Amino acid sequence: MPLLQLEQLSKWFEIKRTIFSKPLYLRAVDGVNLSLEEGEAISIVGESGCGKTTLGKTILRLYEPTGGKIIFEGRDITFERAEALLWYKRRAQIVQQDPFGSLPPFFTVYRILEEPLLIHQIGNAKLRREMIYKALETVRLTPVEEFAPKYPHMLSGGQRQRVAIARAMILRPKLIVADEPVSMLDASVRIEILKLMRDLQKRFSMSFIYITHDLATTRYFSERISIMYAGQIIEIGPSNNIINEPLHPYTQALLKAIPDPDANNRKIFREVPPGEPPNLISPPPGCRFHPRCPYTMDICRIESPPEIYLQKDHMVRCWLYAKK
Ligand code: SF4
Repeated sequence: MPLLQLEQLSKWFEIKRTIFSKPLYLRAVDGVNLSLEEGEAISIVGESGCGKTTLGKTILRLYEPTGGKIIFEGRDITFERAEALLWYKRRAQIVQQDPFGSLPPFFTVYRILEEPLLIHQIGNAKLRREMIYKALETVRLTPVEEFAPKYPHMLSGGQRQRVAIARAMILRPKLIVADEPVSMLDASVRIEILKLMRDLQKRFSMSFIYITHDLATTRYFSERISIMYAGQIIEIGPSNNIINEPLHPYTQALLKAIPDPDANNRKIFREVPPGEPPNLISPPPGCRFHPRCPYTMDICRIESPPEIYLQKDHMVRCWLYAKK
């Protein structure tokens, strides 16, 4: 049984116009299927505005889903509330993009890490202290006595993100969603933080969803990569397949252009394909990538491509791979 299973998960936002007009919807996440095994790390990659952050927040129930299902440990938590949702929130945590804005500025590091323990009524003061110090050691903020009384403004960006990771991990969750966790950090500490998260993920057998616009960093992180475009997952497969044999024209375009500066990583490129992603209020009919695709056929403009599995674990949504 997978740890997490998404079935046709959608999150649409209503756009208010006038009281006389029909509502419009921004389809940020539109029919996503995904499963994640226990202890597995997966990357979700896409351009800004493709819906990947909304997907992460909907998975964590920070946004109310519009439709579909979220199954966690076999339990349907899509529309759970109150206590049932608290059960899930103890097991699924987030590390956000902004280490400057995501930590409360008037709390010490100690108080920040104590907060989730208090919310979930874990331990007494002595046990909580032990857990907080251990969490700081785990993210390598030592000596712990020195870091615990500090406020966020007294820390560097990398140290703040370590506190955010410690806060996410202190409850020993089964799943962490890391939303662009290094994009606001200096280049010098990015790989360090990614490697720390990968080490912790393996050490504690947690599952990770790593959300990023930067395909080049996924090799530090995940067994599988999924590519998101205009609210949908258009390709998913083992990281090696996606990097070395991408199937979808959008994935292929993502992998062209500027080579990664890392000499060990020459095959990974970072630039996005030409053209603009579609408006998610009225996405193009058929394949949503067709206005930018060099291989567009008649059917692409009319019918949305289905999920096509060329191998058991490699899926692509593109008419080029449909059986004739
Ligand atoms: Fe291009 Fe058609 Fe494939 Fe879409 S379905 S990516 S338009 S070939």
